[in-house]
Amino acid sequence: MHATEEGNSMANGEHVYDAIVVGAGPAGSIAALRLAEAGHRVLLAEKRPRIGHPVRCAEATGTRGEIARFVPVNDSWIALSIEGARFVSPRGTVFEKAAPGIGVMLDRERFDRGLAEEAARAETEVRTACQAVGLLKRNGSVRGVRFRENGRDWEAEARVVIGADGIESLVGRWAGLESGWRSDELFSCIEARLRSRRACDRTLEFHFGSSVAPGGYAWAFPRGGNEWNVGLGVDPSRAERVPASVFLNRFLARFDPEAEIVETIAGAACRSRSLERIVGDGIALAGDAAHQGNPLTGGGIMNALEAGDLAGRVAAEALARGEVTREALSRYEDEWKRTVGTSNDRFLALADLLFRKYGDKDLEKIWEGMEKFFRARAGGGKVASLAAALSFPGDFVRAAIPILAGFSHRRILF
Ligand SMILES: Cc1cc2nc3c(=O)[nH]c(=O)nc-3n(C[C@H](O)[C@H](O)[C@H](O)COP(=O)(O)OP(=O)(O)OC[C@H]3O[C@@H](n4cnc5c(N)ncnc54)[C@H](O)[C@@H]3O)c2cc1C
Repeated sequence: MHATEEGNSMANGEHVYDAIVVGAGPAGSIAALRLAEAGHRVLLAEKRPRIGHPVRCAEATGTRGEIARFVPVNDSWIALSIEGARFVSPRGTVFEKAAPGIGVMLDRERFDRGLAEEAARAETEVRTACQAVGLLKRNGSVRGVRFRENGRDWEAEARVVIGADGIESLVGRWAGLESGWRSDELFSCIEARLRSRRACDRTLEFHFGSSVAPGGYAWAFPRGGNEWNVGLGVDPSRAERVPASVFLNRFLARFDPEAEIVETIAGAACRSRSLERIVGDGIALAGDAAHQGNPLTGGGIMNALEAGDLAGRVAAEALARGEVTREALSRYEDEWKRTVGTSNDRFLALADLLFRKYGDKDLEKIWEGMEKFFRARAGGGKVASLAAALSFPGDFVRAAIPILAGFSHRRILF
């Protein structure tokens, strides 16, 4: 279609929506679903030809029940339930904690596609291979999106736009929200999806230490059978110009030197505070685009669902009232700061200790402390538990208590 024809179709309402959501990841699809359920005319635009593909994720997330708060769960989305976690210190000391049903391993491609299908069932128009390349503005307020699709440019109007375009988000920048990343606000990640001789159990494995993953951690997550996601995230400023792939090869040699690597993927994950401003006139950001992932683990699926849900609901109400100003959308920003934003600040404080302040020796002491603490607790000895807790560094206890005591968000891993 030519530009003039597009102009005509905009005049006759073909490309006029109540809401446009950019990016069909978890945040975008749930936001679109909430808006469409409220009866609004919604476009969900995804630049990739195939939603959820290629997967750039280790696929661990919260429980089935937690996901079901946002959308009915399809069995095909779940690869495995997680029954515990294993933490390995720099020197190889293993601390293992059974945690039946703490979360699930997803089939992320099916999950992302399934969420977009839910939005489509609620009558969202879903377009793939449709890339947002700019915003339309009127009197400083966002009023639509410019797209590039199959080599042609076209425009669509909307009363509100939700930028859910992930870690590489541009929508926020176009809208004048300060959404860029400093390099120290990201984990630089690389992961191999592999088949191993090692049979999967249902335990997530985390490895720490300056020679394993400087400024981050390595993971081995089971997908079922003999399939694993094995990867790591590093802080590039700590890795002394050694590429993450070098650390991954070293880690794979330790995990299973004969593993068959099916695919290698690279990407970045969040290790920052949530953005201060996530709404403006006619615009809201959600998910990684708003820096809303958990800065301790880099995990962002549950937070993306939470953010998409809240942004979608608040935008739907604002549309119904006929007012989509920054003030009208600010309930989303306020609510986020009060809940997950606050707990993310606490996770960041702990991340700064574990990944920045402490060296390998300090981490060893924490492993010793954990061993003692949980042994004492299992033995029922309150005094022994307290004594063990006192052996942790004071700043670690101060950072961990609000999280463990549940003042913070209920999700510790992801
Ligand atoms: C290696 C790695 C492993 C990870 N492992 C985990 C894990 O185990 N558990 C976990 O919870 N989190 C994990 N994460 C983080 C998790 O993947 C993200 O936090 C999550 O996907 C964020 O969801 P989102 O909807 O905000 O963004 P995304 O899922 O990134 O979705 C954004 C979408 O927007 C699209 N898009 C971007 N720009 C445009 C545009 N201009 N126009 C149209 N569409 C656009 C993208 O193609 C994408 O589909 C991992 C990340 C990495 C890099």
